[in-house]
Amino acid sequence: MSTGVREIPLARPLHDEREEELVLEVLRSGWLSNGPTIDRFEELLAERVGAPYVAAVSSGTAALHLLARTAGLGPGDEAITSTLSFAASANCFIFEGAAPVFADIDRRTLNLDPAALEDAITKRTKAVVAVDIFGRPCELDEIRAICSRHGLALIEDAAQALGAEYKGAPIGSHGVSGIFGFYPNKQLATGEGGVVFTHSETEWQLVRSMRHHGQEFDGGSWFHHVRLGFNYRLTDIQAAIGIGQLEKLDKLLALRAAVAARYDRLLEDVEVERLCPDDADHRRSWFVYIVALPPGSAREPVIEELRAQGIATADYVPCVHLQPYMREAYGFGEGLCPVAEDMASRTLALPFFPQLEEEDQERVVEALRAAL
Ligand SMILES: *Cc1c(COP(=O)(O)O)cnc(C)c1O
Repeated sequence: MSTGVREIPLARPLHDEREEELVLEVLRSGWLSNGPTIDRFEELLAERVGAPYVAAVSSGTAALHLLARTAGLGPGDEAITSTLSFAASANCFIFEGAAPVFADIDRRTLNLDPAALEDAITKRTKAVVAVDIFGRPCELDEIRAICSRHGLALIEDAAQALGAEYKGAPIGSHGVSGIFGFYPNKQLATGEGGVVFTHSETEWQLVRSMRHHGQEFDGGSWFHHVRLGFNYRLTDIQAAIGIGQLEKLDKLLALRAAVAARYDRLLEDVEVERLCPDDADHRRSWFVYIVALPPGSAREPVIEELRAQGIATADYVPCVHLQPYMREAYGFGEGLCPVAEDMASRTLALPFFPQLEEEDQERVVEALRAAL
């Protein structure tokens, strides 16, 4: 689009000389994978989120897939997740042959509604993937209680929630197994990457083995494969970037929160809904800034108007069950999750990243106001 104005992207990672220095160190060490920088990154992250065990892998999706495997999911099983999420929340167990079941969300939290979740349980249900959408913690205790009542595995998809707190303690520290993701739009950006966090040493060992071709580090032969595995390794180069990002994570999160607070203020008199506010038990980590347009308003022209002015935006996030491949494979359609469908039809992501300048935010809000 040749509007002559500077483009404002939707997301942008923030790295500096520190990451450059750490990456150079790894390059010069010659230890590019399976090396000590991975161990260090895992230790630092585990400490930060209060999880006893962290295993770094090649993506958030790989992390979810490995947890779907340790949960023992397979053909004939069902797993329940939220449709207001990224496709990987469901794909991870479809990879293992389990069928996706979508439960509706709570309009106030945008996360799984525990009552709807319980209603969706059948004799075949084996696991729940609970998402912390937009970085706001899900109803972890209620969901955990439901899972233990019905004997289900619980996987927390916290890909968007690094740094968030539930009941005063960080996501990662609550005894549940879950994942974070490090794609460039995430709070901690390594390019590609993710981790599994777990409170079980056995699960941790299993994940470490499966990310590395099913090898077992028992002091025996390197080429000793005890199970089917993958190449889901993170590289030491990415781990180095991760360490640099971890060192400044508090600063990054504070900058994100400040950008969100400025949007809150600038949008006060604009006719959009701001969503899923924090409360005493749920302190979000700012991942994206989402607003909902008023019911009945047309979103497509607003998106087009913003884009015409060089402002990136997205209809974020569409329902997973309405994606073409889901409709084709499972026959899902409109009406399955009415609350999620309503919210997903009205939400809009605004440019959001730590170094977003106030004047650019003013431009975004003015453009939005005009488009409405
Ligand atoms: C980013 C994300 C993932 C994982 O993404 P990768 O691109 O595989 O790292 C999974 N679930 C949710 C909700 C996400 O936002």
